[in-house]
Amino acid sequence: MAEEKHWEEGMKTHENLIFSCFGGLSNTGITSALASMEAVKELGLEKVAIGCLGALPLGVKPVIGKTRAAKNVITVDGCPFECARKTVEQSGFTPTKSIVLVRDIGMKKKTLHEDIGGDIKTLMDYISDDEVQKAKELIVKAIMET
Ligand code: SF4
Repeated sequence: MAEEKHWEEGMKTHENLIFSCFGGLSNTGITSALASMEAVKELGLEKVAIGCLGALPLGVKPVIGKTRAAKNVITVDGCPFECARKTVEQSGFTPTKSIVLVRDIGMKKKTLHEDIGGDIKTLMDYISDDEVQKAKELIVKAIMET
């Protein structure tokens, strides 16, 4: 197995970072993650990548270093709990832009447990391609404008 090369200060890194919430308990958290991935696919990995949200409060060095080196830090949250923005801020960083899908694209949160024992669907039936697209466009715009 190839030896893992840890990132160190001064090495090349992604120009911008997205920190996205990813709660799999609701349509909003899933849409945040999918839209963030679509934004990276569109803009390319030199321009932007998704940061490891859970690594920030743990102080994982390469993630902290890449976040410090990023030109812009964009947070993407599904709902007003704003898990990504709060985690980023509590870890000592100030997001350049915070996107909240319920607020910014008018998404309605649907928690998936509600349908257990009733009309429970398969996961992707709870996700709207149109909302993923709208959220992706907002993320891309935020990165291109900063
Ligand atoms: S911001 Fe809302 S949707 Fe996202 S992980 Fe937190 S509770 Fe879930």
